[in-house]
Formats: sequence, C-alpha cells, structure tokens
Amino acid sequence: MTLSDAETPVCSAKGCRAAAVWVLVWNNPKVHTPERRKTWIACEDHREHLSQFLGVRGFLKDVVLMEEWEARGAAG
Ligand SMILES: [Zn+2]
Repeated sequence: MTLSDAETPVCSAKGCRAAAVWVLVWNNPKVHTPERRKTWIACEDHREHLSQFLGVRGFLKDVVLMEEWEARGAAG
C-alpha cells in the first residue's frame, strides 16, 4: 500500500478508519437554509447505517458515489 492517510478520505462513522467511497448529502431544516448541503462520507459498511441515521430524521437528500460527487464539482 502506498496511499497516504492524508490523501484518503476516511469514513465519517465513529471509530471507523476505512476509506470512504460514498457521500451522504443532507440538510437539517432546523439549522440550515433549504439550499444548504452538508455531507458525510462513508465506507461500504457504514453507508446504510449513516443513511438510516439521517433518513429517520428526514435530513437525507442524496447518496452518491464519491467519484460522482467530485465529478459534480462538490459545489457547496
Ligand atoms: Zn465506515
């Protein structure tokens, strides 16, 4: 392995050190304006867990592959 940790996005799940491959796009209407987008990144194992966490609160907007998100320009 030659990848450096600094260049590898790591999963947002607590305690997880796995490389993230998914971007979870969310918005909390109580604290964010409607067009604001927050993101969590997740590894394959935690995508479902984090999606459910956001989903049950009604925060989840989108789940996209990291490479697709970057291709979109990751505009804030
Ligand atoms: Zn993870």
